[in-house]
Amino acid sequence: MLLSSLRRSCLRHMAATAATPRTARCRTFSSSSSSSSSSSSSSSSSSAIPPLPVVHHPLYSAPQLPPGHRFPMQVFRVIHERLLGQGLINPSQVHVPPSLPSDEELALVHCPEYLAAFSSCTLDDQRVRRIGFGAVTRTPTLVDRTKSEVAGTLLTAQLALKHGLAVSTAGGTHHAFADAGSGFCILNDLAYSAHWLLAHGGLQRVLILDLDVHQGDGTAAMCANSPGIFTLSVHAASNFPARKQTSSLDEPLPDGLQDDAYLAAVAEVLPGVLSSFRPQLVLYDAGVDIHVDDELGRLAVSDAGLMRRELLVLDTCLGAGVPVAGYVGGGYARDLAVLAERHMALHRAALRMWADHGL
Ligand SMILES: [Zn+2]
Repeated sequence: MLLSSLRRSCLRHMAATAATPRTARCRTFSSSSSSSSSSSSSSSSSSAIPPLPVVHHPLYSAPQLPPGHRFPMQVFRVIHERLLGQGLINPSQVHVPPSLPSDEELALVHCPEYLAAFSSCTLDDQRVRRIGFGAVTRTPTLVDRTKSEVAGTLLTAQLALKHGLAVSTAGGTHHAFADAGSGFCILNDLAYSAHWLLAHGGLQRVLILDLDVHQGDGTAAMCANSPGIFTLSVHAASNFPARKQTSSLDEPLPDGLQDDAYLAAVAEVLPGVLSSFRPQLVLYDAGVDIHVDDELGRLAVSDAGLMRRELLVLDTCLGAGVPVAGYVGGGYARDLAVLAERHMALHRAALRMWADHGL
């Protein structure tokens, strides 16, 4: 509908004029409303205050990659299971996206030709190779899985606007471009959600904070011409992608950085962006491939450093009155339990900040 007017081959950047003038329904994150998309809304505690929203979709880990494949497709399921199994969350606070975005909706930021090829499982060899999932890329399960992640990322953002904070068990496909995927990313959930919120959510300014060890190159390219989106990428300078894009602000780091130096770099740039850009929402890609033992990272951040980073980011944003939607981003390790625990620093920190900030 609205989107059909947007077509245009590679219309990557939503015109600001398309944004509805509705006032942002964010910032005073009311803690009394609950999402209509929640899979369940039963009370989880004796108080009326709803618990931290956590978004998950069973499709996140549905595709089966060949044994030994580097991408940890099953870790999203493991994160969800461990959050529940350890009693950190309960089923009542898990929100499942009610539907998957259509290609017409995704054309807000992606090329219709690319969407048609991907959705019909006929993507050409060259683009399949660049994505890195091999033949599995041309399967309906992976198509649905990819779209479920986009849906989950947008839902997390909407819940964050409503409650002040929300976290996902996946998200952060920041290497995807408008007309091609790259580095295990096919559709750019962050760019889509940011553009969607400007076009349809009544927002004027969204910050995409990308602390994955790899630069958010696709996100930077897909948001470059949108003054309502600020892309901040703090990443290992020598790491993938070899050819970097230009974010609103890039903070390239040297290899081998340890906790204190890494955290100082984040602490140095984030407050300034919050005060100058004044975002109404932060989409936070909390990639854990900054970890010292990550297979693809080149930094040297410890488990404790990871937790310190999540607390620093959430506390800084929430302290500035800005809602945060948190996504797990990248992370690479053979042991899925170990990897899941690294990602869960985000969820643990969010639970703590939810309480500390009285959300
Ligand atoms: Zn990464």
